[in-house]
Amino acid sequence: MLTLEGMGGGRTEQRHVCEECGDPSRPAQERGVAIPLGVVRCDPCWERLANELAEIDGVTDRPTPEPDAESTRWIEPDNECPRCGMEVRPVRTNYDRWVNLATSPMRAKEVPRPYRWRVRTLTARHSAYPIGVIAVKVSGIEPLPDDPVTPAHTVVCADPVAIEEVRRARLAEVERQYRLPPSVGEFEDE
Ligand SMILES: [Zn+2]
Ligand SMILES: [Zn+2]
Repeated sequence: MLTLEGMGGGRTEQRHVCEECGDPSRPAQERGVAIPLGVVRCDPCWERLANELAEIDGVTDRPTPEPDAESTRWIEPDNECPRCGMEVRPVRTNYDRWVNLATSPMRAKEVPRPYRWRVRTLTARHSAYPIGVIAVKVSGIEPLPDDPVTPAHTVVCADPVAIEEVRRARLAEVERQYRLPPSVGEFEDE
């Protein structure tokens, strides 16, 4: 269970109200790990939203590292695709779930939209010293066709289910390109 932190903590300077349930008695805050998502949610509404995003992106839950009894080392999240065994790069997303990314970038035109990510390096405040990385879904402004993006591992996965999934996504993009003028495309559904 999650515990509610700081309920009586005296942070009264700015009270947020959850944009989903609007319940003023539930503490709410702006969400996004290191990189804001632009949404204000209370804890239960946030958990639900994060799970929905994870579902859309085919992203896994947070891995739970456990201390290794034999040594003081922490077990890293699994670096192998459970479906094809290829090496993956697990990165925490800015909505606090983990995505398995491919180990090398590709050009945007080679990666269907649903699988496009960027990896941002976080630095300590007022310094250039890197302290971690966060995966952010590419959305909004379309990258140029030759811009590098980091694909989800699914794009290069050797598992037949993944191959089929990506094939369908590519097909959907081609269909969309031919059927609709680009300016309308973003908002048209089916
Ligand atoms: Zn809420
Ligand atoms: Zn794989």
